[in-house]
Amino acid sequence: MQDIDAIIIGSGIGGLVTATQLAAKKAKVLVLERYLIPGGSAGYFERQGYRFDVGASMIFGLGTNGTTNLLTRALDAVNVSQQTIIDPVQIHYHLPNGLDIKVDRIYDKFLQNLIAYFGHEEQGIRRFYHECFKVFNCLNSMDLLSLEEPRYLLRVFFQHPLACLGLVKYLPQNVGDVAKRYIKDPLLLKFIDLECYCWSVVTADMTPMINAGMVFSDRHYGGVNYPKGGVGQIAQKLVEGLEKAGGEILYQARVTKIITERGRAVGVQLADGRVYRGKRIVSNATRWDTFHKLLPVDKIPINEKKWQQFYEKSPSFLSLHMGVKASVLPTGTECHHIVLEDWEKMTAPTGTIFVSIPTLLDPDLAPVGYHIIHAFTPNWIDDWQRLSANEYEAKKEKMAGQIIGRLEKIFPGLDAGLDYLEVGTPRTHRRFLGREDGTYGPIPRRKLPGLLKMPFNRTAIPGLYCVGDSTFPGQGLNAVAFSGFACAHRIAVDLGL
Ligand SMILES: Cc1cc2nc3c(=O)[nH]c(=O)nc-3n(C[C@H](O)[C@H](O)[C@H](O)COP(=O)(O)OP(=O)(O)OC[C@H]3O[C@@H](n4cnc5c(N)ncnc54)[C@H](O)[C@@H]3O)c2cc1C
Repeated sequence: MQDIDAIIIGSGIGGLVTATQLAAKKAKVLVLERYLIPGGSAGYFERQGYRFDVGASMIFGLGTNGTTNLLTRALDAVNVSQQTIIDPVQIHYHLPNGLDIKVDRIYDKFLQNLIAYFGHEEQGIRRFYHECFKVFNCLNSMDLLSLEEPRYLLRVFFQHPLACLGLVKYLPQNVGDVAKRYIKDPLLLKFIDLECYCWSVVTADMTPMINAGMVFSDRHYGGVNYPKGGVGQIAQKLVEGLEKAGGEILYQARVTKIITERGRAVGVQLADGRVYRGKRIVSNATRWDTFHKLLPVDKIPINEKKWQQFYEKSPSFLSLHMGVKASVLPTGTECHHIVLEDWEKMTAPTGTIFVSIPTLLDPDLAPVGYHIIHAFTPNWIDDWQRLSANEYEAKKEKMAGQIIGRLEKIFPGLDAGLDYLEVGTPRTHRRFLGREDGTYGPIPRRKLPGLLKMPFNRTAIPGLYCVGDSTFPGQGLNAVAFSGFACAHRIAVDLGL
């Protein structure tokens, strides 16, 4: 390609939304992906008739109304669409002492489910979740683009002054402080911690209110919707749209170096020696991979070093991808579950188990009479280093056995009903997703003022931008889609498109 406007390193959802948005604006875009298919953590793999989601399967942003349905809007922008299946319950929580709560898609039903256990906190529950909706309503009333672009900021401010002031108020706040204003029951506060932990991997005290406003409200507004054909379809469709709009993607194209000249990013070099030059370079790799591996370590910009004083890598996951007989699932089983037996272990490695059964929504992902169960739990890479091949396999088998044993409580007969099992460790996540230590993304090292310290898309290196979960507003498909919209908008303005 001649005269490339933007080179995007990586085809995660953040990278692909940036690429498609720019291509839709007639920019010349090249995406370089190290793996065989697009999607990164939102990719898939196939084994013996099963199509497994690599990671994400609780998908926000595929709704049809408002402005926060960013995946739908990203697909629309390049004239492609994705069929979806409504998920009626976001999460079924299985908690200590028989606490059993379903987060129904219908807001009032969810509140009733919670109030059934915590009647004495009815008012607090309503006030807390209502306040989350206030945040969401502000976000959902405006076009979500780059907060680094003054003309956009001025325009939205004049169009929606109250919503903007509302967001400014919530930007430095965390969920824990808001929850404690309304709720006193320590068990209910622990539940709010878990409501945050299951997507932010930190407790409510450290979870920004803006993100919680999105998750706790959008699940009842746009809802959680599963893409027909599996999560991998979203990336495949974005690539189809990118190519239709004139963009290009190369696979097995691992970038090993971002080339700088006089301090400015001007191109990239691949592992096989190929060099591409572009007017703008975008990294969809994590900040650790971008600034420690693709650029000389002795040239890490000061603000990146500062950022690392505020944020650290979250743990990775131990993942069990299982194919099971349909008889294992009791009638009425929901798609997503959280299993926790001891509140004290919520944030400990393997303490909380996340479960997704996407075949309950799309049976075509497994052979007839079988289901997929993806069970995953936070885990550190350090626990998987320095093992011989035999030790590594033995450890995988042992840990998988423990997780299956714990899941037998909600799915009796799981072990006996197993048809297929593949275990992924933090090493697997590092290897196949290209993420340092297999991390799920950045988490605050200590309590920070909400999202204020999260970086936007521009970096201290002219010409270099970052996109994805290492940028504002963080992890999750819809969140990285926001980052993609913002990044493309900023670049389009910088290129005068
Ligand atoms: C187990 C698990 C479960 C999850 N569940 C959910 C969920 O239910 N709902 C939800 O919304 N989110 C979920 N997430 C989070 C979500 O998947 C991520 O936040 C999101 O997909 C990250 O997107 P990204 O664009 O930032 O980057 P990534 O998905 O990490 O993509 C980056 C891409 O860049 C490529 N790349 C990296 N380095 C290079 C290089 N040097 N050269 C070329 N290519 C490179 C990688 O191969 C990859 O394709 C989950 C994540 C995991 C791991």
